[in-house]
Amino acid sequence: MCDKPDYPLNCDGSRRRDFLGAMGAAAALGLVGGSLFTRSARADALTHAQRDEMTPQQIIEVMKKGNERFRRGERKNRNYLREQKASAKGQYPAAVLLSCIDSRAPAEVIMDLGIGDIFNCRVAGNVENEDILGSMEFACKLAGAKVVLVMGHTACGAIKGAIDNAQLGNLTGLLAKIKPAVEATTYTGERSASNYSFVDAVARRNVELTMADIRKDSQVLAELEANRSIKITGAMYNLATGAVEFLG
Ligand SMILES: [Zn+2]
Repeated sequence: MCDKPDYPLNCDGSRRRDFLGAMGAAAALGLVGGSLFTRSARADALTHAQRDEMTPQQIIEVMKKGNERFRRGERKNRNYLREQKASAKGQYPAAVLLSCIDSRAPAEVIMDLGIGDIFNCRVAGNVENEDILGSMEFACKLAGAKVVLVMGHTACGAIKGAIDNAQLGNLTGLLAKIKPAVEATTYTGERSASNYSFVDAVARRNVELTMADIRKDSQVLAELEANRSIKITGAMYNLATGAVEFLG
């Protein structure tokens, strides 16, 4: 474990480096052995300069490293109170996530991120709509986030509901937005909600289709991606293993 508050070492045993001073070196090292979200005494939340110096791919690497720590049972020497105070007057999140409401897939926990690091959109089945696109456009165009990450997960109840044609109040309309992924999934085995292999294949296809929908329905985000200001990508979180698999 690596949970001693204010202990001046990283989880990997190296001395904690000052974030601002380490930016160039960290980039040159390909982020090996450390995270760009390292907190120093004077930077308890991601600052404007820190976020802006990172490329979209570096931000994705930070999330991958965080998930690796999570899977090892480690976490950063995080002080939520200091992060809260440091971010109270402004936020400079590096990414905006669209993930499922599932209680077992909290992005900050499974990728060891802190207060102010990412924007979160959560809806059952991680499908987009106008309000979510508007939120993403705010996150990227106005607030400067550089990664749009659509994250599905295994054994997703919303995906199962779409496969089973579940009907319930407003849920019916939500599941209808997932059904194109069911139809678009190529699968030779049993196409049922009780076949988790099929459920997970649909969840993955649903992530891909949601990414395509984001590009199609948001000119703002499509342009930001075209000029390489942002990266739109996808991931699947495995509830059984704790692994976040990035799709691109
Ligand atoms: Zn789900």
